[in-house]
Amino acid sequence: MYDWLIVGAGFAGSVLAERLANERNERVLLIDRRPHIAGNAYDCYDDEGLLIHQYGPHIFHTNSKQIFDHLSRFTEWRFYEHRVLAEVDGMQVPIPINLDTVNKLYGLNLTSEQLQDWFAERAEKVSEIKTSEDVVISTVGRELYEKFFRGYTRKQWGLDPSELDKSVTSRVPTRTNRDDRYFGDEFQFMPKHGYTRMFEKMVRHPNIHVMTQTDYEDVRHVVPHRRVIYTGPIDEYFDFRFGKLPYRSLRFEHVTLDKTWHQSVAVVNYPQTNDYTRVTEYKHLTGQEHQKTALTYEYPSAEGDPYYPIPKPENQELFKKYERLALTTPDVWFVGRLATYRYYNMDQIVGQALATFRRINESLPAQADT
Ligand code: FAD
Ligand code: UDP
Repeated sequence: MYDWLIVGAGFAGSVLAERLANERNERVLLIDRRPHIAGNAYDCYDDEGLLIHQYGPHIFHTNSKQIFDHLSRFTEWRFYEHRVLAEVDGMQVPIPINLDTVNKLYGLNLTSEQLQDWFAERAEKVSEIKTSEDVVISTVGRELYEKFFRGYTRKQWGLDPSELDKSVTSRVPTRTNRDDRYFGDEFQFMPKHGYTRMFEKMVRHPNIHVMTQTDYEDVRHVVPHRRVIYTGPIDEYFDFRFGKLPYRSLRFEHVTLDKTWHQSVAVVNYPQTNDYTRVTEYKHLTGQEHQKTALTYEYPSAEGDPYYPIPKPENQELFKKYERLALTTPDVWFVGRLATYRYYNMDQIVGQALATFRRINESLPAQADT
């Protein structure tokens, strides 16, 4: 008899498995339908021995010391600050849009102060910022919006930014200085030996039994367990009874090139050209030294594994129906990006899992020996 059946060995499931086994001495069966642990953060070596991220580039960043400290128990870190260029009008310029972006794109020599006025002259008045279009046009105006955001967002989501919640493009700030880091967070690191090694250390415990290539359906009625932590898509758990929740998918094309470097930064975004959104070159992230180089091209798609919940009001309403059902489902805890239908980064999922663990502790007495 397991105390917990945990469905999904990504951040949500693995962080909780470790906490329950270590702190409550409970027996956990951690399953994943994929042939590996680590969820979307899974990394592995390709045929040439280059470390790649199977599901696209994952860069750890957080402002939470608690979350950083928690993960630090399972890995050493490599200092890494993420930088991204966008190919716009045939030039590669920094994104988030900053002083250098505007100066380079328009052949100007503005100061930070002048750039503030430049943006103010172009920013459109929006009475209430609701959509992802509103966010950008009210900050930098329509021209930069069209160059950097409209095409990329349409490709990535299959929707116009005016149809998406403001939270989507709000993820990317606008700067008037020369700071060209993609994230502004206090802690920005990569796990020194990769994400998968970090997960292996996290779930290595005598009370945790890991089974990959195992679907919840395969074991739910077969393996005795007291409670469930479910980190898969919430609509799937309830057999889509209110209809399918939309998730955006991606097709990843991984290639290895017989040259040392391909591009000057880890990620180049393509808002105006190509069917892919961005190209990642992993050696920038991992610091690996190798004569060859590995890249991933990301092609957004409506079909395929669910990667992104799609933030728009009607989807949130549909999710709320499932959430109400989840709240009345005894002994099942819904955690993670797919089960809570939230466009969360890794650190936010770790935070959510740790908060869930605190709630479990408050509501359930430890029971390992019963
Ligand atoms: P997941 O990692 O999706 O894990 C859920 C697991 O559950 C999956 O492995 C799935 O196979 C399994 N599962 C589902 N249903 C079942 C079932 N019925 N039976 C068995 N197993 C099941 N975050 C960052 O902080 N920084 C980044 O740079 C970053 N880049 C990203 C890039 C891309 C392309 C994507 C898609 C996401 C990115 N993220 C990034 C977000 C990050 O991937 C997520 O926040 C995090 O992985 C979510 O963890 P999770 O455990 O909730 O979900
Ligand atoms: N975005 C854009 N152009 C860019 C970068 C981002 O339009 O060059 C928009 C797009 O809608 C994207 C969102 O901002 O989905 C969030 O970007 P982020 O890089 O955070 O996306 P993720 O890494 O989560 O795919």
